[in-house]
Amino acid sequence: MTPAKRKITVLPGDGIGPEVVDSAIAIINATGVAVEFEKCEAGARAFQKGIVTGIPKETIQSIERTQVVLKGPLETPIGYGNRSANVTLRTLFETYGNIRPVRELPGVQTAFTGRGLDIVIVRENIEDLYAGIEYMQTPGVAESLKLISREGCEKIVKLAFAFAIAEGRKAVHCATKSNILKLTEGLLQHTFEELALQYPSITSKHILIDNAAHQLAMRPEQFDVIVTTNMNGDILSDLTSGLTGGLGFAPSANIGNDVSIFEAVHGSAPDIAGKNKANPTALVLSAAMMLRHIEEGKAANDVEQAVLVTLESGLRTSDMIGAEKPASTTEFTRAVISNLGKTSKLSPPKKYTKVELPPPQLGVNVVPAASRKLAGLDVYIESDLEAKTLATDLEKIAASSPLVLQMITNRGAMVFPGNGHRVSLVDHYRCRFVQRDGAAKIGDAEILSLLGAVGARHRWMHIEKLQDFDGEPAYSKSQV
Ligand code: NAP
Repeated sequence: MTPAKRKITVLPGDGIGPEVVDSAIAIINATGVAVEFEKCEAGARAFQKGIVTGIPKETIQSIERTQVVLKGPLETPIGYGNRSANVTLRTLFETYGNIRPVRELPGVQTAFTGRGLDIVIVRENIEDLYAGIEYMQTPGVAESLKLISREGCEKIVKLAFAFAIAEGRKAVHCATKSNILKLTEGLLQHTFEELALQYPSITSKHILIDNAAHQLAMRPEQFDVIVTTNMNGDILSDLTSGLTGGLGFAPSANIGNDVSIFEAVHGSAPDIAGKNKANPTALVLSAAMMLRHIEEGKAANDVEQAVLVTLESGLRTSDMIGAEKPASTTEFTRAVISNLGKTSKLSPPKKYTKVELPPPQLGVNVVPAASRKLAGLDVYIESDLEAKTLATDLEKIAASSPLVLQMITNRGAMVFPGNGHRVSLVDHYRCRFVQRDGAAKIGDAEILSLLGAVGARHRWMHIEKLQDFDGEPAYSKSQV
């Protein structure tokens, strides 16, 4: 009996998606690997049918069955849906790790040709600002919550090191903005520095994200694997794709504990959709990553090598420098198929081993604190009063409370006490109350009582408790 074929969900997607997906499928089929594709809908057409997530039920069921997805780019048409179908897919199946490799490709001329670039961005894919938790705090002030968890940091750091080991790589950098965002971005840095000790064979180093961008533009060859938060990784990986030829060459894998999704970094490129002009390389290389993931290593190498041989032969799609007579998507695809079985002279096959990840922790993940103390309260107030006037009123309100007004900030700048007159004010104040010297321990009752008194005279829209965990303040200090 012939063994059952491995099923793969395919989402052709929007714009150039169907063209590049068809190319990848034709190449995979030509390798003779035992896989079978289930084509499903997602993206613009689903939104237009009234499916608010852009992902029909049948598509979700297919992904639950196959656990592997080859995906074209998805659009969220203006006026439909609140959220990108891409973000929904990543969140729904918790594909927490986005792996975006780029390397110097033979025949692809860039400003860095000859410097042997081979860089992988490992981007956290679920948390950070991309959770999309946003509020208009006043009609003129918007807020977005940047949530970073210890659990999310551990998972992405372990994935980055596991990936580095599987590919025989030497170094992992962690790129964060921890100098400014000490708690959120700092959590990734600290988790990285702690876990890196478990991987002594790999060089590990923290780098600030702005410096990482600068270094990538100046001396990109110094980088191997870079692990970073969601938004940083989104931006940095488009930058690295630009170093090696552009979006047409940048593949990616979204790795989860159960489901993994393979797609090009690029979007639907509506300007060239339907013209048989799109470069399918990014999606074909994503398909090679997918084949490797399902342990079809030979087919993966065959696909990758056939692409490299095709590029080495001088065949160019319209997005490549020097493409005087560019090959169409279908011509490029046929050339890759005809090169299956050949080996690139300039870029021979690399050694890959399976990415070994620790099993996921089940249940609610808790980081315990041996001691906790309620230290105060930040109340966010919408007011058109000058800072000094507001402060005088809040001091009066809190006069009989065990909490005392410590400071007021406006867009992060301290406007009370101090010289807030240099700041351009908006009607959004953060007012910090802390335990009054000598007052008894405060609890929720004291906080709620103060909030009630503040709310009787001012419009508040948001509060944050100030807590100490294990004797350390668990909130950012005031900025001057
Ligand atoms: P884009 O689709 O990546 O296209 C930007 C430009 O890059 C294109 O106009 C085209 O440039 C070039 N390009 C991208 N892929 C190419 C390829 N395979 N071959 C040749 N040239 C290629 O970015 P966008 O215009 O910002 O986004 C368009 C839509 O895609 C948006 O709705 C966005 O939300 C969506 N999107 C989806 C995903 C995803 O599904 N993962 C990712 C990103 C964006 P030329 O002008 O030189 O032809």
